[in-house]
Amino acid sequence: MQTDVLIVGGGLSGLALADHLARQGRDFLLVEAQDRLGGRILTQEFSGGAFDLGPAWFWPGQPRMAALAERFQIPVFGQFSTGDLVYQEQNGTVQRGRGYASMEGSYRLAGGIGSVVHALAKGLDPVKIMTSTRVTSVEHSAGIITAEVDQNGRAQIIKANRIVMAMPPRVIANTVSFEPALDAGQMQVLQDTPTWMAGQAKI
Ligand SMILES: Cc1cc2nc3c(=O)[nH]c(=O)nc-3n(C[C@H](O)[C@H](O)[C@H](O)COP(=O)(O)OP(=O)(O)OC[C@H]3O[C@@H](n4cnc5c(N)ncnc54)[C@H](O)[C@@H]3O)c2cc1C
Repeated sequence: MQTDVLIVGGGLSGLALADHLARQGRDFLLVEAQDRLGGRILTQEFSGGAFDLGPAWFWPGQPRMAALAERFQIPVFGQFSTGDLVYQEQNGTVQRGRGYASMEGSYRLAGGIGSVVHALAKGLDPVKIMTSTRVTSVEHSAGIITAEVDQNGRAQIIKANRIVMAMPPRVIANTVSFEPALDAGQMQVLQDTPTWMAGQAKI
């Protein structure tokens, strides 16, 4: 398999880049390790409601999110911020009315943040998207990138002119091997770059 730009990761970053290249008529291939797109964005529909199990909020200082919502005509609404905040502590005690407005001033998307993932993916040629495909190693020689991927247990080679790894730096450092190996300084930068909200989970 051969492509101009190999995008590794089908989260919002990888999808936004694929969308950008597609609109410029450029050749690309996006590979995503999981069997679905969105990465840390996951909106689950349940009982007629859409629940964001990953990111839910964006803020006035994030014009690109607002632009995507406008382009795909996804309604934006302000986070509800009056009333009581209620939560249960580890020992079972329920706390109510501590009086702070959670995420006041932030925005939500109707249908959840997953709406953006669906809209971006819908506009892309499905032939250029490979899910359940994990990049395991990247070799760089004579201006050509050779990436080895594992697609459902089957090894394949993808050749590309450029590669964009749209995934958390620490995941790159810990799960992908490079030939020639990245120098110690580059590796340190990847290891030392914290992943935004990596310690968060929702149920
Ligand atoms: C619970 C939670 C709540 C959050 N809330 C907010 C919020 O309200 N607002 C906000 O702005 N941010 C929030 N964040 C952070 C936000 O989710 C991320 O910053 C954002 O989704 C990152 O997108 P990304 O495309 O850069 O990376 P990711 O979504 O991490 O995508 C990377 C993709 O790469 C894939 N991948 C990894 N390794 C390989 C490989 N070797 N080969 C192929 N594919 C690979 C992964 O499967 C993944 O799909 C939250 C995060 C969490 C976990």
